Amino acid sequence: MRVSRLMLVTQRAVPAEAEIASHQLLLRGGYIKRISGGIYAYMPLMWLVLNKITRIVQNEINKAGGLQTLLPQLQPAELWKKSGRWSAYTAGEGIMFNLKDRQGRLLGLGPTHEEIITKIVGETIFSYKQLPINLYQIQTKFRDEIRPRFGLMRSREFIMKDGYSFHSNEECLKSTYQNMNEAYKQIFARSGVQAVAVDADSGAIGGAASQEFMVTAESGEDLILTSTDNKYSANQEKAISNATDPLPLDAGEPRIIDTPNQKSIEELCSEQLLESSQIIKVLALIALIDNGQKQPLLISIRGDQELNEVKLINALSNHIGRGVISVNQITEDQLQSEGLKVWPFGSIGPDFEDSHLMAAKHWNKKFIRFCDFTAAELKCFICGSNQLDKHKSHVNWTLLKGLQITVDLRKAKAGDSCVHDPNQILKEKRGIEVGHIFQLGRKYSQALEASFTNENGIQEAFWMGCYGIGISRLAQAAVEQNHDEAGICWPISIAPFEVIVVIANTKDIDQKSLGEKLYKELQAKNIEVLLDDRPERAGVKFKDADLIGIPWRLVVGRDATAGKVELVKRATRETKLLEIKEAMQELLQEIFASRT
Ligand code: ATP
Ligand code: MG
Repeated sequence: MRVSRLMLVTQRAVPAEAEIASHQLLLRGGYIKRISGGIYAYMPLMWLVLNKITRIVQNEINKAGGLQTLLPQLQPAELWKKSGRWSAYTAGEGIMFNLKDRQGRLLGLGPTHEEIITKIVGETIFSYKQLPINLYQIQTKFRDEIRPRFGLMRSREFIMKDGYSFHSNEECLKSTYQNMNEAYKQIFARSGVQAVAVDADSGAIGGAASQEFMVTAESGEDLILTSTDNKYSANQEKAISNATDPLPLDAGEPRIIDTPNQKSIEELCSEQLLESSQIIKVLALIALIDNGQKQPLLISIRGDQELNEVKLINALSNHIGRGVISVNQITEDQLQSEGLKVWPFGSIGPDFEDSHLMAAKHWNKKFIRFCDFTAAELKCFICGSNQLDKHKSHVNWTLLKGLQITVDLRKAKAGDSCVHDPNQILKEKRGIEVGHIFQLGRKYSQALEASFTNENGIQEAFWMGCYGIGISRLAQAAVEQNHDEAGICWPISIAPFEVIVVIANTKDIDQKSLGEKLYKELQAKNIEVLLDDRPERAGVKFKDADLIGIPWRLVVGRDATAGKVELVKRATRETKLLEIKEAMQELLQEIFASRT
């Protein structure tokens, strides 16, 4: 391809809308074009990159027994109602775009395809003899993200590879899950990115294993915690650790203390000369349940710990056996609109009575009370007294008589000691989630009544796994991990072209004819080659070549008359002035070696 025919328009200035390097570089290099918030066009160079990633994914998944298919993006609401996900995905903060067709039937635009695939397999596969199967597709997904940002990292329309496996038993599911794990490692390694596998949250289903693949990068939205011996790695949403030991309180009798205007843990600590680990903090929250109910919660956690919202949602969901749509702090405005009197925020204790909910118009009238292990284990502590400007000192759980459900609700953090070995300490890194594999179990097959006949002639719901890769996110994550101040340094396996031949001065007949000749020779050898034949200044062309990040550059310049060209490796800037033959030999050798 000739750069003069490529529709290449690069940009020197950093686009104001882009916060992170990869987003800026893809915009500046003309790879993507923003159409609207979270909606991008993939320009021809980008499409080449996406196709390269697609081929690597297809190759590895096919080798592991995957069958490629293509499923409809328009999905009837009935299927999502059957699986119980319609309201969670469309109401409130739900991310499914949805619409009505001309007959008034409700449809959703596919954010994921568990429902569709379960219906298809349920109607196609009848016997254990036809199992296991592993289907996948590569397709545009739609998600009305609450905060689309960072270009292709979190967009509202993006390309995903999603795969689903079906099994007659759990062991078979586990074995395919393991194969997918291996295939994913190969895919990321072949795509030239460094990705780590971490334990991930598997939602409210509980028990089932789930792993995310993270491309490590400072701009990553996820926090990963890894033990010093690298034996444990988890997304913070899921991570477990040992909390530090609390500092015991000095001996003393239970009493009420005056704490004027001391509402936060920090204020209490500085005014009362306490350590935060001696205090129990109580959070009053309101949960929206998938059946529309609003459930008040009281959460007790040690004062030096933070609440992990994902753990809370899972605990609540397991407790009530329903999906939880959101959890938010209760505000004075909300109390008012419920017709409730003002609560003593900042002084609420774990034993704050249910009677405070009696007059509620819409909320359930009993708190669900959860207590984090760190709080449950405290023998003697300070907590709110349920009256403004007063706290209880030197109390214990027997005195409070509070009925609590004890669970792990705290955020693990860097510096904590590890559960698998208390001598190991957690350290943190940031990551971009590029893939997610998941043992779904039978949640969808049971809900959608998808079953097969087992060896004993009995109908049984399928065991399922699902496996996703964000193809477009992965392309941008590769840039985030591989760039410098001048531009992108594509890993060669996913670069739009392997080499760019730059004719420094197109008015120079020798340069021009040599450049054209080398271009044709490379093409004849099946090298993916770009020729910069534009009548621009050499400096402009070099800057563009650096920006768009083609791994190899062959410069045909002043030395062309003397039979020499310059070979430049983009990533390292290593430059060699070589005889033409030598340069071509070295280039071909490097490129062929990188293809295996
Ligand atoms: P996230 O936690 O980042 O929102 P997710 O866990 O909801 O992602 P999955 O449902 O696991 O995403 O989707 C599979 C893969 O699709 C993810 O691992 C990610 O690489 C990609 N992906 C998800 N949402 C987006 C998005 N809005 N834009 C681009 N890629 C996405
Ligand atoms: Mg995920």
